Amino acid sequence: MQTKDILEFDRTHIWHPYTSMIDPLPVYPVERAEGVRLHLADGRVLVDGMSSWWAAIHGYSHPVLVDALARQAQTMSHVMFGGITHRPAVELASRLVRMTPAPLERVFFSDSGSVAVEVAIKMAFQYWLSKGERRRTKLLTVRGGYHGDTFETMSVCDPENGMHGMFSGVLPQHLFAPVPSPAFGDAWNDAHFEAFETLLRANEGDIAAVILEPVVQGAGGMRFYSPEYLRRVRGLCDETGILLIADEIATGFGRTGTLFACEHAGIAPDIMCVGKALTGGMMTLAATLATAEVAEGISRGELSVLMHGPTFMANPLACAVACASIDLLESSPWRERVSAIETQLREELAPCADADTVADVRALGAIGVVETVRPVNMAAMQRFFVERGVWVRPFGRLVYIMPPFVTEPDDLSLLTHAVRDAARDPRLFS
Ligand code: PMP
Repeated sequence: MQTKDILEFDRTHIWHPYTSMIDPLPVYPVERAEGVRLHLADGRVLVDGMSSWWAAIHGYSHPVLVDALARQAQTMSHVMFGGITHRPAVELASRLVRMTPAPLERVFFSDSGSVAVEVAIKMAFQYWLSKGERRRTKLLTVRGGYHGDTFETMSVCDPENGMHGMFSGVLPQHLFAPVPSPAFGDAWNDAHFEAFETLLRANEGDIAAVILEPVVQGAGGMRFYSPEYLRRVRGLCDETGILLIADEIATGFGRTGTLFACEHAGIAPDIMCVGKALTGGMMTLAATLATAEVAEGISRGELSVLMHGPTFMANPLACAVACASIDLLESSPWRERVSAIETQLREELAPCADADTVADVRALGAIGVVETVRPVNMAAMQRFFVERGVWVRPFGRLVYIMPPFVTEPDDLSLLTHAVRDAARDPRLFS
């Protein structure tokens, strides 16, 4: 197929994420992705500022991951996980148990982040059902959150972020505290936690679990909040027995400067979800980890088995790549790299804070965010970025970069300067 035929067929027949079939946003055909560069079919080369949505932390086509995938493909690409186990799954589980906060030691594999969150929620409900506490059907979460696009995960996304609001009539109804505050690094005072605590105490006997993204809220607003807030949540969960689910799908594997974002607060959740960067972005894989107390609590119940079993659970190719990705991360100076990226993002994005078009500028770990006053014109801004030789995908009132950890300073500067100029250009807003 010629490039023009690819584009034509794509435009007519293929749904892209969050787009209309009548008036789709432009798409750019990529032929090759290598290191931190995306090679377009028309020969243009873009420096990647997205890590394919938090995932490609080592850049693209890393030879170590390619090799792990090729070697695994020669022995076993997939087998059902029911009644069968295999080395790649066990080796990956042992890494996850070792590297996640200590009490998390039981691992359930799935194939996407949304499913990992579904499983976490199911675990929480089943845990209380097993104890005979049938009233606990509510989840408590915070505004500004995002946990996926499936039905139960949508029910704990911010109902007003414009993504899932249309389904509010058919979604399960859960409890929402205000967006967590203060911002990361700002001074704490107890007033910041009052609304959350009041809501939890008023509904204590009905709540199965608290679910939130630790410290960094991603797709629901790209906000960074105080680790003290998370410590308070943990304290209240300890006091009441309500389970704490940490959704580390975006934040896991170093993105915020610690291996997992929970580490900023020094807390361990009862259930934790990981995905995205788990395989360095090469394969689709996610996992839900639980404490022995949760896992055994479920299994002591009258049903006793966890009712979930995806066809591609623990896919050996994905598990082998995930093991290689974790080893690569652990043997690299990723903390220094992420910290250098944070410093550069902060310094180089700061100048756009003065523009009338810009509401706020912030950086944490390898995440740099420019929040704008008006919503961006996605197609126009995307075109601007491609013409500047970078891949950045703005969304709503957010222009953000989360580059691969291996991005060199010169390439990062290309990204930050393009973002700075886009955020200051009034023609790129709707
Ligand atoms: N939770 C969080 C925090 C996420 O950022 C995402 C994906 N953006 C998900 C869950 C859902 O993951 P997936 O897209 O792999 O289903």
